[in-house]
Amino acid sequence: MAGLDRARTLTEKNAVRYAVLGSGSSANAYVFSCRGRSVIVDNGFSVREALARMDRAGISPDSVDGLFLTHTHGDHMKGAGALCRRLKIPMFTASGLTLPDSVGKLPGLYTMQPGKEHSFSWCSCLPFSTFHDVDRPVAYSFSIQGERFTVLTDTGELSDEMFHLVSTSRVLFLEANYDPEMLSSGPYPASLKRRIASKWGHLSNQQAVDFLSEISENRRKPDRVFMCHLSHNNNTPEKVRESIASSRAADMDCRVLDRGELCTGDFVPGLKMTISL
Ligand SMILES: [Zn+2]
Ligand SMILES: [Zn+2]
Repeated sequence: MAGLDRARTLTEKNAVRYAVLGSGSSANAYVFSCRGRSVIVDNGFSVREALARMDRAGISPDSVDGLFLTHTHGDHMKGAGALCRRLKIPMFTASGLTLPDSVGKLPGLYTMQPGKEHSFSWCSCLPFSTFHDVDRPVAYSFSIQGERFTVLTDTGELSDEMFHLVSTSRVLFLEANYDPEMLSSGPYPASLKRRIASKWGHLSNQQAVDFLSEISENRRKPDRVFMCHLSHNNNTPEKVRESIASSRAADMDCRVLDRGELCTGDFVPGLKMTISL
């Protein structure tokens, strides 16, 4: 094999494939793969829909080693137990979390302490606490091939720990849940509006963009950011793009994912990333 081809084959073997199977208020799931092994974060889809989306993303169900649950809201958990049973994989959750009976019997269940990095054969996973109105909510940051990939959604506030993790990440999946004007003038009851906008709710477009602006100016920025978990009723991709364009984060490589949109990308250490939407 010619030198260049051989070098390319070697680096592509180390490629990390990431996929947002879908995000938003109705169903969320993310996958990270490398060297034929994968992990899935959450599953708010039916098993059939999740498998169809994995197929479209080029991820083999046989490659999945475990499902990492962020929290027990339906848009993250609805199909999680059933997918674990179908794929015969264990579920990982934050320690101390009580799973509802609706999750059903699992092939295996492991708990992880937030703030502590847990090593597996081909990746490591750092769960970290979020601000959300549910039992023991966490988000996850994975280290694969020495590079960090972080999913940060379903939090009403941001912490120093989150700033640190994001500024050491290559790829970030960040919530931009609602446009404050759409939320306040929208159809939700006042109590639900207060809940979403509270410290224990979700990130607004402005909070997400301010976070990125702070990172862009003062810290190492991720190579690529996906804005996700957009609310069905209180946001649009255009609103998120406008917020980014008028901010100090405008020079960052940000892509906005519409509700339910599937997206995959490959990160090859040492090579430029490729992406397909
Ligand atoms: Zn959610
Ligand atoms: Zn939630």
